[in-house]
Amino acid sequence: MEYVGINKKTPVIASYDVVVAGAGPSGMCAAVAASRCGSSVALVERYGIVGGNLTIGNVGPVMGKVSNGTMGEEVTGLLKAEFNQQAPDIERAKIVLVDWLQDEGVEVYLQSPVVEAVTEGKSIKGVVVGTHDGLASILAKVVVDATGDGTVSYLAGAACMKGRDSDGLMQPASIMFTLGGVDEKIAIISRGETKDVNKAMVPAGSFVDVCKEANEKGLLPKNVDIVRLYYTTRPGERLVNATQANNIDGTSVGDLWKGEVDLRNQMELVVQFLKQNVPGYENCYVQTSSNTLGVRESRRITGTYILNDEDLQQGARFNDVIVHNVNFLVDIHNPGGAGQAEGKAAAVRSYDIPYRCIIPETVDNLITTGRCISGTHRAHASYRVMNICMALGQASGIAAALSAKKGVLPRNLKHELVQKELTDSGVVLFE
Ligand SMILES: Cc1cc2nc3c(=O)[nH]c(=O)nc-3n(C[C@H](O)[C@H](O)[C@H](O)COP(=O)(O)OP(=O)(O)OC[C@H]3O[C@@H](n4cnc5c(N)ncnc54)[C@H](O)[C@@H]3O)c2cc1C
Repeated sequence: MEYVGINKKTPVIASYDVVVAGAGPSGMCAAVAASRCGSSVALVERYGIVGGNLTIGNVGPVMGKVSNGTMGEEVTGLLKAEFNQQAPDIERAKIVLVDWLQDEGVEVYLQSPVVEAVTEGKSIKGVVVGTHDGLASILAKVVVDATGDGTVSYLAGAACMKGRDSDGLMQPASIMFTLGGVDEKIAIISRGETKDVNKAMVPAGSFVDVCKEANEKGLLPKNVDIVRLYYTTRPGERLVNATQANNIDGTSVGDLWKGEVDLRNQMELVVQFLKQNVPGYENCYVQTSSNTLGVRESRRITGTYILNDEDLQQGARFNDVIVHNVNFLVDIHNPGGAGQAEGKAAAVRSYDIPYRCIIPETVDNLITTGRCISGTHRAHASYRVMNICMALGQASGIAAALSAKKGVLPRNLKHELVQKELTDSGVVLFE
């Protein structure tokens, strides 16, 4: 038995070409893409469920436009929920995603949080996971950090950024929940913008104004003045995105508890508000809620390129593009109060994400993906949504597999090879 890691006392339980840490939308796609490129792949997840925010976080609908042909299309197809419109059926998602990973030959380690990185000099060689038998190491030629929080990168010594430049604050955390008992014939949907409602009229006009007034009167939680109500795949059900805990650092265990207590209590007030003020919601009740609070923003890894605000404004194009024609608003849920940080979410011009954004500046053999890639606070607010994270995962998995196969560091891998693999599989990268 080989021993590595903490005081060289951690048994090595397996070795792979590629280890992906985190089975969220991005990590699952990275694992499948790497496997399709011929790599042996382990997907390591801290919880007992795959899907990340999509399942554990009760998050939907899948949002964020990218060019045609990415893995996001494949996954959205599996989920059978309308892109950008309907929240997926989470119970169904748990089954189809498990089957997908199994069919694609990915070896999944559940209930295995990564607690340390196995490093040698400035290279990562694997991860140490907590198991029911104690700590164990899983080695890999290339590691993909898909933890959302950039935990593996941080543990391996990668340079990270957190929060906005002005005060370091990050976007608030939320608990998402679904409501049953909604009268489908009259109940509105609301996406948080001003053109908010369909079906029945809400007394006192705009639903946005109704929410603001309720917030001022203390009928909604302190920082909640928008209640987003999405369709799901089930009639008579809505997914609610409303609760909001500010000043939470999703990588601080103390803050996570503080947020959990606050947000669980906020849910009751939101439901009461809906029952008493919004037609069609009189008999609603909480059907499901996220298993843990949802973290929108935490660590962002400093890569060899940092995607920035101008790139989004100008619709930047890059020679080393790996995700093309990305389009989603700069959606900054206010880190310092209610509503949107900038009054309104800003539009972007469809932009590209370059390969350099997934390559950490300071650690070798490591690739990042999903919401922890390299970008500014504002850029992150746009690319963090699930369809974009899945396209990133696909590219990251391919890059990891090719690096492992060729025995080159990801930073030295020719980006054209990743692009070729992506375009061969049907992804549009260039006009
Ligand atoms: C409240 C909320 C509402 C949102 N609404 C939408 C929406 O409507 N539409 C949309 O498209 N996006 C939405 N988003 C954004 C989106 O859900 C995330 O940004 C996206 O899921 C990021 O994907 P990911 O794979 O990078 O990370 P995640 O989905 O966070 O997945 C990371 C995975 O890594 C695992 N992990 C973390 N640490 C470790 C560790 N140490 N060891 C092993 N595993 C680990 C986690 O358990 C998880 O499974 C929302 C986010 C939040 C929080």
